[in-house]
Amino acid sequence: MEYMKVKGSILVVSGPSGSGKTSLARAVCEELGDRAYFSISTTTRPKRDGEKDGIDYFFVSKEEFLKDIEEGYFLEWAEVHGNFYGTSKKQINEALSKGKIVFLDIDVQGHDAVRAAYPDVVTSVFVTTKDKHTLIERLRNRGTETEESLEVRMINALHEMKKIPEYDFLLINDKFEVAKEFLRGIAISSLIKTSKYDLDKFIKHWKGN
Ligand code: 5GP
Repeated sequence: MEYMKVKGSILVVSGPSGSGKTSLARAVCEELGDRAYFSISTTTRPKRDGEKDGIDYFFVSKEEFLKDIEEGYFLEWAEVHGNFYGTSKKQINEALSKGKIVFLDIDVQGHDAVRAAYPDVVTSVFVTTKDKHTLIERLRNRGTETEESLEVRMINALHEMKKIPEYDFLLINDKFEVAKEFLRGIAISSLIKTSKYDLDKFIKHWKGN
């Protein structure tokens, strides 16, 4: 539509590790098929069992990451739980110009940066569990954390929760299927956010002169 400032939209999904945000975002993205694009971040974090390079993340060394920063490769990057994570710029702009819903699974710092860069195009969702105990249980069941890293993630979770007012939506992921339905609805609706329209153009078009 020629009266859209940008064809696609950006959907930022944040929330504590273990909230289920990645599984939710990936599931909705898959359902939406061609209409969506899931941004794969670059990280210096060691690969977990079962993770694949180029699918879960692009796993790189700290030196490579620093070089990418210097070369302006990232739209945003941040240090999270002691590792570096970054979102590449080029693929996102390509997906936006094709009219896709771009899913960004990034932390609260990333949300700030992306919102500043694309104020009209971003919709954001904060995903969390119904309480702290559920989060601890999920992280323990995942089996990827030591007691020490679990503690770091819990402290960070509380800090992140304080940023909820900055998000458009708060999604409490209790029943996966229900949460998925909400996220799908938000994703599709993000394409018609008022701020995405060039309203002068639209009104002119609507009046027919
Ligand atoms: P994990 O190590 O559990 O995969 O991710 C840790 C945190 O880093 C999560 O909150 C995740 O959303 C965030 N994250 C992943 N990729 C990026 C990124 O490219 N930028 C930012 N700012 N955060 C990211």
